[in-house]
Amino acid sequence: MAEPLLSAEGLTKAYGGVRACAEVELALAPGELRAVIGPNGAGKTTLTGLLAGELRPDAGRIRFAGREIQGLDAAARARAGIGRSYQITSLFPRFTALENARLAVQVASGHSFGFRRAAARDRRLAARAEALLGEVGLEARAAVPVGDLAHGEQRQLEIALALAGRPRLLLLDEPTAGMAPEESRAMVALLQRLRGGVTILLVEHDMDAVFALADRITVLVGGRVLATDRPDAIRANAEVQAAYLGQD
Ligand code: ATP
Repeated sequence: MAEPLLSAEGLTKAYGGVRACAEVELALAPGELRAVIGPNGAGKTTLTGLLAGELRPDAGRIRFAGREIQGLDAAARARAGIGRSYQITSLFPRFTALENARLAVQVASGHSFGFRRAAARDRRLAARAEALLGEVGLEARAAVPVGDLAHGEQRQLEIALALAGRPRLLLLDEPTAGMAPEESRAMVALLQRLRGGVTILLVEHDMDAVFALADRITVLVGGRVLATDRPDAIRANAEVQAAYLGQD
């Protein structure tokens, strides 16, 4: 494999006696869409939190784009190129979709909210916000307050916000959670459009989405990596069947 964009070695995090992540090894190739699956409590959210810098590992190393980042906080990792969407919504419900995108672009570009804003810069930021909505298929919903968007549209907008800083790696935590089947299909189509342009680590319970999207799948069980392989090989893996897929 080419130099991985992201790699983790020996990544370990315990809560009291529970090892939520235990010596996790991970290597994401540039442009790869990697799904992480596993039963409830397997450590998936803990792993994304460790990679995003929201949690500190007890042990282990994380390299991103050629440098060690385990000592960086979440804001520094975002600046380094790691974008993140959340299971819990991070949108401002009374602002429109475009206003939310505009704020995200402004924050990502590092500009302050002062009154003496240059008109040219304003236009650039507004154009970028509109482009972001286009990237996630929400351009027709730009003027709608976020609270009036459908759940699926809100999740699409969250992905637009995560893209605001032009990340090289996007961490997605259950983007189809709570969605109707039609909304899930729209999300899968969106991720299909984004794939390749940005490396994606996708934590997901929806196996149809996972098998439709993933280049490779990492299976976590009890905080440990049980297997990492291509979707067909994961489907055929007897240990994975026994530990997880067989329970569906
Ligand atoms: P789910 O699919 O249900 O979201 P998950 O695979 O994301 O689960 P985690 O949420 O990472 O799993 O949890 C892994 C283990 O760590 C579980 O046993 C969980 O109870 C424990 N855990 C996670 N966060 C905490 C915390 N803040 N305090 C104590 N235990 C925690």
